[in-house]
Amino acid sequence: MDIQTTLLTSLRKLAHLHTIETLGDRRDYLGASDIGYCPRKVILEKIHPGEHDLATLLRFQRGHMAEDIIARAFTAAGYSNFEQQVEIVLPGDVPLKAHIDFVFTSRVHKIKSILEIKSTSRIPDGPYSSWESQLYIQMGALSEQYPDYSIKGAVLTLDLAHGEVAFFNGYEPQKMIFTGLMERAGMIWSDYQAMVHDEAIDPKTEVSPLCGFCDHIASCPRFETEDVPQLAGVVEALQELQARDKNLQGEIKKLKKHLLAVVEQKGPIKSGGCFLRKATRSRKYLDTDRLESFLAESGTVLEEYQEDRSFSFLEIRKAKAKAA
Ligand code: SF4
Repeated sequence: MDIQTTLLTSLRKLAHLHTIETLGDRRDYLGASDIGYCPRKVILEKIHPGEHDLATLLRFQRGHMAEDIIARAFTAAGYSNFEQQVEIVLPGDVPLKAHIDFVFTSRVHKIKSILEIKSTSRIPDGPYSSWESQLYIQMGALSEQYPDYSIKGAVLTLDLAHGEVAFFNGYEPQKMIFTGLMERAGMIWSDYQAMVHDEAIDPKTEVSPLCGFCDHIASCPRFETEDVPQLAGVVEALQELQARDKNLQGEIKKLKKHLLAVVEQKGPIKSGGCFLRKATRSRKYLDTDRLESFLAESGTVLEEYQEDRSFSFLEIRKAKAKAA
């Protein structure tokens, strides 16, 4: 068995055990984190759970690591007033559970503070709406369970690869948002039950950039036709960033050229807290002319040693306007 297969099999086993130990059977209830996502995706993942690939499994492990790091950091800082993985079963007709990463309790001030940990590959400019929905359900659940406590909420985001953190703080329970989310949970649950009982219904779909990570995109009615207007905002945002990147690269090149001209004339200098000097490095180039002559003498050609390897990238072309 190769290392990739070993990792894949063992991480799948670990992920399964972790889910059973901490979350139980997710087909039997809705989790607070389910409510903010596309209903169709949530329902189909319960009915046809797919096998996770290695990248997803490693992301799960990264999430557990982030939580462990924070728990150890708080313990080292002398905090002992927190509980981890707190499960709250919400009352009502919909089986709904909230699993909270950390709950800090101040008995003196009668405050319970939720801290949700998110591990990302890039720190976002602001919290995602799915994180906020999860937090509002958690805060609502906690305030129903502890009516004599003030409830607060925050999200701590960690980018472990680049060592960056962001803290999104200052959340408090909002009755209207909580009620809206509970109604949404009811809608998702009733569609889920209908599909489990083979009723022909089309669950609600919500197109977002996360569709790229959805295992059910191939059968998704929103992607049946070529036109997906709901992603237009994302395509425009990407094009704007690419245009800015191009301008930025031009500016960077220009400034580098100016500074290089200075150190070429003057020699090394110190400025802006940095040392600047002209550096020279050498790179190895393949002399294809000599190689081709050598191969020709041996009765062969360079093409015989070249092979096609495919790679993928996002191609964006201007769409032709439809004829009126
Ligand atoms: S592709 Fe997008 S809209 Fe369709 S089910 Fe998946 S997440 Fe929902």
